[in-house]
Amino acid sequence: MDFFDICENWSRDQIENEQVVRLKKSITQAMKAPFYAKLYKDAGLSADTIKSPQDIQKFPYISKEDLRDNYPNKLACVPVSEFVRMHCSSGTTGSPVAICYTKKDIENWASLMARGMYMTGIRKEDTFQNMSGYGLFTGGLGIHYGAEHLGCMTIPAGAGNTKRQIKLIKDFNVSVVHVLPSYAMHVAQQVQLEGTDPKTLPLRIALVGAEPYTDETRKRIEDILDIKVYNSFGMSEMNGPGVGMECQEQYGMHIWEDSYIIEIIDPETGLLLPEGEVGELVMTTLGREGMPVLRYRTHDLTRIIPGDCACGRKHKRIDRITGRSDDMFIMKGVNIYPMQIEQVLMAFPEVGQNYLIQLEKEGLKETLRVKVEVREENFVEDMRVLRALQDRISRRLHDEILITPVIDLVQANSLPVSEGKAKRVIDLRNN
Ligand code: AMP
Ligand code: ZN
Repeated sequence: MDFFDICENWSRDQIENEQVVRLKKSITQAMKAPFYAKLYKDAGLSADTIKSPQDIQKFPYISKEDLRDNYPNKLACVPVSEFVRMHCSSGTTGSPVAICYTKKDIENWASLMARGMYMTGIRKEDTFQNMSGYGLFTGGLGIHYGAEHLGCMTIPAGAGNTKRQIKLIKDFNVSVVHVLPSYAMHVAQQVQLEGTDPKTLPLRIALVGAEPYTDETRKRIEDILDIKVYNSFGMSEMNGPGVGMECQEQYGMHIWEDSYIIEIIDPETGLLLPEGEVGELVMTTLGREGMPVLRYRTHDLTRIIPGDCACGRKHKRIDRITGRSDDMFIMKGVNIYPMQIEQVLMAFPEVGQNYLIQLEKEGLKETLRVKVEVREENFVEDMRVLRALQDRISRRLHDEILITPVIDLVQANSLPVSEGKAKRVIDLRNN
């Protein structure tokens, strides 16, 4: 028996039966916090309301605001002395959202993380380098504990210092990395600049997540480094990474439904959407004791992929996150998501690894400017060739987003590189 196949091989019936048991417990546990107690009692709800996983739909949603209002630990459902760790979500505005974990929560989280890693083919014999920031961000310690739980020799490289990252990969024969998509592209570029063929690195797998990216970007990272890239999804409110991961089919991320309930709703109306339709992901923790989070509106946009996965696992899959409902910007009356732009850009072989979207306004005139890095070998082309490339990118973007952007072609490696989550859009319209 494989190490992790206990819940992985469950049938739908087994998953749903366990969900009912755990959901009831989670509700009882959550109601130890005054916030949930009041919210549910006022609506006449309790653990007894739950007879099937679908009964969760009778419960109200909670939002990031609710978590903020209860900062730092008013949502504690155990004595605070039982907490052994806290992390914060990486929101850039407003007061932070803090999540506190008991010892058992940390162990469960590590085991979920390890289960996902195992699913992608990572084994204890692998050497694992975690290239995401440690500290309050869950992508550091969260991934780290998972890798150790699986038994991998784990290198806490943290974010940044690209030269050292590359040296560590070479010196310790690192076979697996966890890296943010924007940083993965940067590392690959640096390896090339050092004169090493990135394909000769000992890497075989990268877990890539923590921010949206397109399939085009995945293919690029896979091609440049000659590795497999698996999409990895999570958020602090749901522990952190390890919530969902792609299996070797690379078609959607399995959500570990013994530990989470997922729903997709219409972000406008709040109504549940049928499987297959894109909407906002709503998530519920099952079994977290320190700070259960129930029916949480994540703002992440995705869909549940209908049907069974070829790998045989019955845990539902969600599609690549196309963005957050709050990532969308409006330009000349058109709703645009940064990932629509990335998808177009990364399909051009001449385009390099980085881009930046800038929203500008002069008087009443709005301009969408896209700064695009061009590969070194293409940047030396003569003016006419570059102009033609500019036009082609602009036209393809117009087909996708219905407005004509201004394209600035810039040299490879000239746009800012973020060590954490990339800031893809700069809005200068209100300056
Ligand atoms: P944090 O607050 O740092 O825990 O970040 C959680 C958020 O990061 C999620 O709600 C998503 O918006 C985003 N995120 C995490 N993993 C992915 C992924 N694989 N693809 C797209 N977005 C992701
Ligand atoms: Zn699968």
